[in-house]
Amino acid sequence: MNTSPPPDPRSSQAFLAKSPLPLQFAGLLLLTVLTGWGFSPHRHLHALAWTHLPQDMKEAWGGSPERLVRWATQADARKHLDSLEGARHYLDLDDLDTLFTSHGKPAVWGMSWGIYKQSIFEIDSLTSPRIHGVLPWQLEWSYRRLVKAMASNDSTTCELDNVIRAAADLGHYLADAHVPLHTSGNYDGQRSGQRGIHALWETQAVEAQLHTRTCPCLHLTSFEAVEGMPYDPVWTPWDILKDSHALVEDVFQAEKEWQNMVANNGWRMRTRGRTLAMLPSLQALAAWDSLTHGHTWPRFCTTADHIARAWHAAWMEAGQPHMAASIERDVGLPRWLLYLQRRWKRGKVAGPDLQLKSNHATSSLHLDP
Ligand SMILES: [Zn+2]
Repeated sequence: MNTSPPPDPRSSQAFLAKSPLPLQFAGLLLLTVLTGWGFSPHRHLHALAWTHLPQDMKEAWGGSPERLVRWATQADARKHLDSLEGARHYLDLDDLDTLFTSHGKPAVWGMSWGIYKQSIFEIDSLTSPRIHGVLPWQLEWSYRRLVKAMASNDSTTCELDNVIRAAADLGHYLADAHVPLHTSGNYDGQRSGQRGIHALWETQAVEAQLHTRTCPCLHLTSFEAVEGMPYDPVWTPWDILKDSHALVEDVFQAEKEWQNMVANNGWRMRTRGRTLAMLPSLQALAAWDSLTHGHTWPRFCTTADHIARAWHAAWMEAGQPHMAASIERDVGLPRWLLYLQRRWKRGKVAGPDLQLKSNHATSSLHLDP
């Protein structure tokens, strides 16, 4: 008897089986389609978010972003081991709007997990409530996990490793929530003949700018600025998803125009890491940036801002604990991490080191039972 689970429609194998693209494209997309911002952008985002944290919080979290950066993509890696992991990275808002409207139900935006589950059950009792993704609720659960990881009591002390792992996951899911195509059932253009759009938006377009651009000063030293945009573990995720989803239509329209522009002359063999792959040329990516009104880089900077605010809000809620550093592992840093380390030490990852000062009110929370 075959006991292997049914193929996840978002799995790389399922994608490759259906892919009409040449093998080199498939190999590239195997790495990029399902990884949120892509491995490199995820790591840069965590490094950038770290630079926004106040100094006392950096010291409380061990004084170094290396493990946060190292574990920035652990959530994606878990997809290969845990069948429940994939749904944590997206929410198909368009499909849910159609589904809920056709059954006379209110919009899903802002719904608690309990009410959402009940609504899905009423529509089809055989459908898993996870089928369209659980990202906004996962962000709330991940935030609570991070606060809990920092809470010690008389019989337990908090472990820095657990805190950093929880923070890395929260940052990862938050980053995914900023990607427009993580809010659509047509997440890789598979319904509209636009396969590859996912990697184009969140990996290729970002990587083309990572080494030349920096993010503007976010003025987080200003008490007013922080008070004007505090991180709320329940509502901020929904706001982020709404902003991401508002870009979906423009992204698909831009890709159609872009394909017409670059069809015959927009692709080059380029090295990516240690591999040679057929990728959009830098000129083609510049055209893509223009067609999308340059929204990729500001979205990248906003993502790092939200990650920093979420980490900081959780730390404040936990009472600003100072974690004892766990024993450092005797491992050499991989080359990509050494490279990032050099960049953030030179201030290339972000603007000046910034201070967050705020007090956050604790929101009422609806947790997964
Ligand atoms: Zn992801």
